[in-house]
Amino acid sequence: MNTRETKGAINANRLCLEFVNLPYTSGDPVAHATSWLELVEFLSDKGIISQTRSEELRTLTESDPGAAGTLVAQAERLMRGMELAFHAMLEDVAVQPAWLKPINEMLQVTEGHDELQWDGTAWSLRFIAKYDQLEWLLAAIARSGAELVAEGSHKGLSRCSNKNCQLLFYDDSKFHRRKWCSMALCGNRSKVAAFARRHGGRGKARAHHA
Ligand SMILES: [Zn+2]
Repeated sequence: MNTRETKGAINANRLCLEFVNLPYTSGDPVAHATSWLELVEFLSDKGIISQTRSEELRTLTESDPGAAGTLVAQAERLMRGMELAFHAMLEDVAVQPAWLKPINEMLQVTEGHDELQWDGTAWSLRFIAKYDQLEWLLAAIARSGAELVAEGSHKGLSRCSNKNCQLLFYDDSKFHRRKWCSMALCGNRSKVAAFARRHGGRGKARAHHA
């Protein structure tokens, strides 16, 4: 098994969930702080910014560290609010208006339009910001979060069945039977643990899967 657990292997199916998953790796309950480069890479990976824009933004921590710091702080606020809201939805408890404030603030200051874009294999609907200001980089994420909150928890919002794993995903499978953030990571861990339980010890399970 590949021990290097990249988030590339995890398909959360929704932009807001991919964003909330950003500080976590599969099977690890501990979050790490989001860096500027990680944020820029995320925006670029998700097609929110172009390659050229991403290269410009990478150096912003040198040319305008204040602006980069402000955006990271806004991103973390948005991320934290959405994380609390999604977990509350999963546990069927009330979503606090304060958690949704960062989403609403972002929706208020953004103007833009949707546009169909061809990514080489399929058409997808993208949000295009009207003005090229930094906080609008988070607009598409906020909108995705708003849509999921408005949709409610009874459709496909799910959390990985590994209790140590914080990763969320949107289960769009036909019968809503997806259990794991990734079959290859947490799914496999569960299989190894079940094997160990049946065969009396982790040592044997490790040897079996080595
Ligand atoms: Zn997991």
